[in-house]
Amino acid sequence: MSSVVLDKVTKVYPGSYLAVDRLSLKAENGEFLVLLGPSGCGKSTLLRMIAGLEEITEGDLWLDGQLANHLAPRDRDVAMVFQNGALYPHRTVRGNIAFPLEIAKSDPAQVRERVTELSKALHIDDTLERRPGTLSGGQRQRVAMGRAIVRQPKLFLMDEPLSNLDAGMRTELRMEISALVRSLNVTTIYVTHDQVEALTLADRIAILNRGVLQDVGTPAQIYNDPATAFVAAFLNSQQLNLLAATVRTPQNQYVMLDFGPHRLTLPWSDPRAYAISQHTGGQVLVGLRPDGLAPVPESYEGPSFFGRVRALEYHGHEWLAYIECGVPAVPVPEPPDRRAQVNGRKDRSAGLGGLVRRMFSQPEEREEQEQVGQNVGSGIHRRSDIIVRLGGRPVWRAGDPAKVAIDQARLMIFTPDGARIDPPRR
Ligand code: ADP
Repeated sequence: MSSVVLDKVTKVYPGSYLAVDRLSLKAENGEFLVLLGPSGCGKSTLLRMIAGLEEITEGDLWLDGQLANHLAPRDRDVAMVFQNGALYPHRTVRGNIAFPLEIAKSDPAQVRERVTELSKALHIDDTLERRPGTLSGGQRQRVAMGRAIVRQPKLFLMDEPLSNLDAGMRTELRMEISALVRSLNVTTIYVTHDQVEALTLADRIAILNRGVLQDVGTPAQIYNDPATAFVAAFLNSQQLNLLAATVRTPQNQYVMLDFGPHRLTLPWSDPRAYAISQHTGGQVLVGLRPDGLAPVPESYEGPSFFGRVRALEYHGHEWLAYIECGVPAVPVPEPPDRRAQVNGRKDRSAGLGGLVRRMFSQPEEREEQEQVGQNVGSGIHRRSDIIVRLGGRPVWRAGDPAKVAIDQARLMIFTPDGARIDPPRR
């Protein structure tokens, strides 16, 4: 077991490419911590810095209370599993799994016993005498996992170990990794861009975007109580409904979210009311997950929107309805771009010896992000539908009038740049 502390860790690649920006995070002893975020957000870079495969540009890494920035990888007692678990092609499965123990000159009888035991747990005991070339992708990943686990390191680092497998195999191996790693009680840091993997595996999830930590918490905290609109949207299997509203406090009687054709009121007793009222007269963004909305009869008098069904979509296990209700929907704002500030900071101190590249993204992505930013500010919106989850029965047909009840407890309220107005509970 081992604890991992990252203290304002920054990584600038040669060519002044800022990949991780002053990131602070702790993995507790025995914890399964998942690093989640879109491709290119710096997850692998972070993992490689912990492994000692990548130098830390600034900040500190502590392993088990020991400053580890300059510790050689072999002295970190870390085992890593990669996306395509590279195996020794000329060794058998047994030889691959046993390799770390052989290097450590362990007793051959014990090695044999340990490899047999582990191969059973990984369901590859019938492949022990085969070479990697004759195995399926799933079996190869199991062997890679076995090789990482066999000498019981203090820390497992896993970099998208399931992403090359087909869906069925991914689910199966996901459950097995979870059971195996937990039974060993070894601290594990697991990188993925797949929200389902993160939600199902993690004790806690850390979400990154553009090299910046967005939020850390248990899967339930992150899903139900996200720190930013980006996090809410990223952890959403259907598209998040994100709507702009003006905050009003008529005669100070209650707090009103004014969406134009629709209004929602929150009593002062609502724990979020005071924080929201600080934005009276201004715009906020309101996040509503499709499963926080439900179809109701026209006579329903609780908090609701009404409109017309534009389309229904069948997703196998559920139906989604797109309701045109005249409420402007806004794109998810990207988190503030701190890279420019880092650039300025570095320029003054010249600590990184060169210009930090200002943007992570490719030029075309950059243009799109800038447009998104303008959209939020100028109120230009891409669609005016809200998405409602209907479950297994399509209660409406396209063109029907529709009334949608809103579970107000599940409203998520953000500033126009996407930060939560009422602080998330952690
Ligand atoms: P993720 O694992 O989240 O997909 P990475 O950590 O691999 O992201 O990469 C973060 C950013 O750093 C990406 O934009 C990537 O192109 C860049 N990057 C990664 N490795 C290098 C490298 N060796 N040299 C320069 N840039 C790199």
